[in-house]
Amino acid sequence: MGFPLASSLSSSPTSSSPTILPCPPPPSAAVVPSPCAACKILRRKCTDTCILAPFFPPGEPLKFAAAHKVFGASNIIKLLQGLPESQRGDAVKSVVYEANARLRDPVYGCAGVIWQLQRRLGELQAQVAKAEAELFTVQSQRANLVAVLCMKMAAAPSAPDDLATGGATIPLQDDPSCFLDDGGGQAAPPWELLWA
Ligand SMILES: [Zn+2]
Repeated sequence: MGFPLASSLSSSPTSSSPTILPCPPPPSAAVVPSPCAACKILRRKCTDTCILAPFFPPGEPLKFAAAHKVFGASNIIKLLQGLPESQRGDAVKSVVYEANARLRDPVYGCAGVIWQLQRRLGELQAQVAKAEAELFTVQSQRANLVAVLCMKMAAAPSAPDDLATGGATIPLQDDPSCFLDDGGGQAAPPWELLWA
């Protein structure tokens, strides 16, 4: 039982003896008819001041069972007592998560999950770096190709294809003016001129 939380809080973590009553209910506390999951498992009376009741409702007994098995009820109660109420819910979530991870993997617990995720993160970062390098290579090749094309076009001014003419004069057209901007900026579309 060398878990950080359990060892730092001392006392018997997995004991289910009737001595687990670190916070005996005050005399004014009323016993509730349906005990929370924690009190039900601990076989004690649940009161309206039960510190565990808000986090271990009767319908979710496995949550407390896992946390109790790994950390011990008294340690969980001590942990919650040392925290402000606003942080107790998150603390219970992490305790239950850690407990379930420890039950699944007794050797590494949630540290095993962290290592797996870190390894996966490293793999994905390597994939991103590789993809970025490939993208850079492709972009460089494209830039080189465009440069070569421009040089070839510039070096062939009398090329017969209309790539070199810029489309200003199209010998095959009967009425080339239909494709030329007359400067007015509102030239009719070519098809209207053609069929007017
Ligand atoms: Zn209770």
